[in-house]
Amino acid sequence: MTHSLSPVLHNAAFVALGMDWTYVAFHVATGLGAKAVEAVRVLGIEGLSVTMPHKSDVAAVVDVLSDDAAALGAVNTVLRRNSRLVGDSTDGHGFMAALSEAGFDPAGKCCMVVGAGGAGRAVVLALARGGAARIVVVNRDPGRAGSAVALGGGVAVVGGVECAAESDLVVNATPVGMGLAHNSTVGAGVVDTDLLGPGQFVYDLVYHPAQTPLLFAAAGRGATVLNGLPMLVHQAARQFELWTGEVAPLEAMRVAVHHELSSRVS
Ligand code: NAP
Repeated sequence: MTHSLSPVLHNAAFVALGMDWTYVAFHVATGLGAKAVEAVRVLGIEGLSVTMPHKSDVAAVVDVLSDDAAALGAVNTVLRRNSRLVGDSTDGHGFMAALSEAGFDPAGKCCMVVGAGGAGRAVVLALARGGAARIVVVNRDPGRAGSAVALGGGVAVVGGVECAAESDLVVNATPVGMGLAHNSTVGAGVVDTDLLGPGQFVYDLVYHPAQTPLLFAAAGRGATVLNGLPMLVHQAARQFELWTGEVAPLEAMRVAVHHELSSRVS
């Protein structure tokens, strides 16, 4: 939890709006996520962010699930509505908001999603809801790939790395590339970057480093690229709005997270 950027994002937002709220990260041991939700009820806390490995456990003990959280069977946000606790998932919103901000509309497009974990599943669901014409899910574990495809509303299929050639959008939803130098030769490995080129949009959910090996190689071949930092900010902004009912101060959140990441690098 000491490396979580969530306290930085949310506390910057509270300060920017002059709100007397605070966001604190707690380490919760595996298997105790449901008990942490009971603490929220008892202590009157307004909301929670939930990270792995607790997302499914928490989905099972809140009072109500949003449509996204119900479809994914996972919760990354808990909020209080009167006396009931609602479980939501803001990753799909964050993914789409950042994509739209970057000028890419997935409606009618061929998309490839590498990775079928929590993030990959949320991306497949969001792309299907966003009107993607085709979603190819590429994952090591075929069972997990199939479960992500089931979220794709009939337009998703399991595929292989060669599908990058015919994709308008290529998303890396694996941790591969995290913490690697931009010119590392192993870090772009989940996508065959020789198949990428101009007219394609490559979106790496990893945000550290800002230029992952995949994005470095894709940009070098003329593709448009986006890292995961805008998604991180937008999914947090959505959490903030669910908890507080206020419009999130996006710029203050962006500045705070950039400042924090550059201080970690130096
Ligand atoms: P997860 O649930 O643990 O899933 C990890 C996925 O990556 C699985 O599909 C796994 O494949 C695949 N994978 C892991 N190592 C691999 C490797 N060496 N080669 C090929 N595939 C590999 O994790 P997650 O929550 O989905 O997160 C995935 C990434 O997205 C992380 O880097 C996370 O930080 C990032 N993320 C970013 C944001 C954001 O706001 N920017 C939000 C959420 C997540 P198998 O199923 O075959 O094991």
